[in-house]
Amino acid sequence: MSNPSLLILPGDGIGQEVMAEVRRVIDWFGAKRDLQFDVSEDLVGGAAYDKHGVPLHDDTMAKAQEVDAVLLGAVGGPKYDDLDFSVKPERGLLRLRKEMDLFANLRPAQCFDALADFSSLKPELVAGLDIMIVRELTSGVYFGEPRGIHMEDNMRVGVNTQRYTEAEIERGARAAFELAMKRDKKLCSMEKANVMESGILWRDVVTEVHADYPEVELSHMYADNGAMQLVRAPKQFDVIYTDNLFGDILSDCAAMLTGSLGMLPSASLGSPMENGRPKAMYEPVHGSAPDITGQGKANPIACILSFAMALRYSFDQGEEATRLESAIEKVLADGVRTGDLLSDENSTAVSTSGMTDAILAALDASL
Ligand code: NAD
Repeated sequence: MSNPSLLILPGDGIGQEVMAEVRRVIDWFGAKRDLQFDVSEDLVGGAAYDKHGVPLHDDTMAKAQEVDAVLLGAVGGPKYDDLDFSVKPERGLLRLRKEMDLFANLRPAQCFDALADFSSLKPELVAGLDIMIVRELTSGVYFGEPRGIHMEDNMRVGVNTQRYTEAEIERGARAAFELAMKRDKKLCSMEKANVMESGILWRDVVTEVHADYPEVELSHMYADNGAMQLVRAPKQFDVIYTDNLFGDILSDCAAMLTGSLGMLPSASLGSPMENGRPKAMYEPVHGSAPDITGQGKANPIACILSFAMALRYSFDQGEEATRLESAIEKVLADGVRTGDLLSDENSTAVSTSGMTDAILAALDASL
């Protein structure tokens, strides 16, 4: 049987730096756990624009459709800020999500005990926090038509349309219920059914899908209340399912409860392929961080945790994913810190590669 395939797209800025560290982790699993991947690498974002004049070449898109999983670093940077909208680095990312039809975006918000003091909330509110936000990713107001800016009565009018079909709501709901079944069997669906028809349909469809998952305790919440509850008492949630726009905001909010952007992984999943694996792309939540690019300051953990999610959700290697997460937990408990993480007199400041050195040593110690 051939090895599972992995397409690596480092992208721009610190995307390239953190991905170099992930490759060391992948090599460790090859050498020490006999987990072999067919790894290929290509360009996305500004790096692809520089070479091809587009943020994602058609050949790269075709490759992404064939592999078992894509691992992406980050795209963008000031150099590309003035480009036409159609070729901005982010368009490469959006094209991947759209054409791979990655409709379920998984954003864990997990608080490592060693970092509980780093949260903007009181440590007791976040210690042990483990939430998974499932955001619908391919529809809603970011894609709905009509859209644009036009003139009306001599005035500019900006238009975007929130639009959801029941099929779109349903497939995301199934992904969220499936996940809830593997976790604490608790799902909270968030929308604005009080003021939006798309929210009423959302609530109806999620309730209908619930009939297939009677073991899961389902609740509904207006998204604005959800935002409030997330900062008031986040541990009341396990899995949250919400739309593209609310999910964008709520997942950033939940994520920051746990500390630095440099710690946050994500997965975007689509329908199962012929081999049963879902189409999948894994990426850290952070961007290309131009302010620290090239200085060895980037925290590689978000990208390494994204690979851990790939191990779990694409490669059926849940135990190895846990091994990797535990190694990271140990390193943090030992006080190893990149500059974005809170440090004290007991901690050791390390560079991007120094963090990976420590994680690899903890992995060695786990054998
Ligand atoms: P950013 O996430 O790049 O950076 C925000 C802040 O967090 C910066 O101070 C940065 O130094 C810090 N930071 C981010 N990741 C870090 C890490 N791993 N380790 C240590 N510190 C880290 O967001 P931004 O500054 O708003 O955007 C910069 C560029 O990235 C823009 O071009 C933006 O469009 C792009 N962007 C891309 C993505 C993506 O590729 N998914 C996401 C967000 C932003």
